[in-house]
Amino acid sequence: NFGVFTLGDALITFNPSDTGPLRYVSTFSRKVGGAELNFAIGCARLGLSSKWMSRLGGDEFGRVIYNFARGEGIDVSEVKLMDGYPTSLNFKEIREDGSGKTFYYRYQSPILTMEPSDITEAVLKDVDLVHLTGVFLAIDPKNLDITMQVLKLAKKNNIPVSFDPNIRLKLWTIEEAKAAYMKVFPYVDILLTGKDEIELIHGDSSNESLEELAEEFKIAHLVIKDGGNGAKVFINGQWHEKEAFKVQPIDTVGAGDGFDAGYVYSYLHNYSPLESLQFANGVGALVTTVSGDNEGLPELDEVFAFIRNEKIIER
Ligand code: ATP
Repeated sequence: NFGVFTLGDALITFNPSDTGPLRYVSTFSRKVGGAELNFAIGCARLGLSSKWMSRLGGDEFGRVIYNFARGEGIDVSEVKLMDGYPTSLNFKEIREDGSGKTFYYRYQSPILTMEPSDITEAVLKDVDLVHLTGVFLAIDPKNLDITMQVLKLAKKNNIPVSFDPNIRLKLWTIEEAKAAYMKVFPYVDILLTGKDEIELIHGDSSNESLEELAEEFKIAHLVIKDGGNGAKVFINGQWHEKEAFKVQPIDTVGAGDGFDAGYVYSYLHNYSPLESLQFANGVGALVTTVSGDNEGLPELDEVFAFIRNEKIIER
């Protein structure tokens, strides 16, 4: 079985029981969120061995997250609960059309207690792919050092790296984000980014300009996610494109993380470019049909059942 590794913060998410502006919502349900954790759950549900490294609050909410990750079958051997650091919270607002907005109550994140020296050879043992995101980078400047440590260790051990910039302009500026991404990109084999996001980062999302980006940083798979329009990928000098599945989205948050897990699964299983996009689109679409960031992440059988009716014509 293939093993994936990811690293990042997690938080408690309060989901509103009603749609509409948050000021009119008075009841919430407590959920667990965090881009990298969502990715780890997505991978575990697809049957991959999934390891998630983190530092959680040494409080009741930290335990909720820890138990939740364990319950999903994630390897939590690199997760520690840190006393004196409250778990971060966020509250979701969901509009009638399924679009959302998030309000953060982020304190000194427990993840700030992590150090580059925590990244040892043992951390990447039995790992076939490393997945990192820009959320971890955005939390604190020091996280770039930790990220670089992971990237160098991955390179040294010939482990492919996927990266989702997952830009969060509430946490840092576009200039800060770009400076960090430029350090990370040379190590990235699979870049999984949103269309609007890459436009912000790269200034242009035309195919020609993206091809230059892929060539400059030797990115083998440059994947562009485009919500309800589907996704495309530039591999070996060629573009491949696939439409999204037609679904009724209820909550689109987490679709990108699910797509990433689906794409990584396809990559590890040597799927063709179109099969990879179809599979990842399937995971992303299924996530949007369920409320919550990770509740809709499908199991392998569900993805196969969902995409079965769509034939791929390769030539
Ligand atoms: P986020 O980080 O908010 O999850 P993202 O920008 O990384 O978002 P999106 O492009 O919104 O990701 O969505 C990822 C993938 O999920 C899309 O490429 C598509 O395959 C699927 N998806 C998203 N929205 C829809 C939709 N409305 N209908 C069908 N599929 C969707």
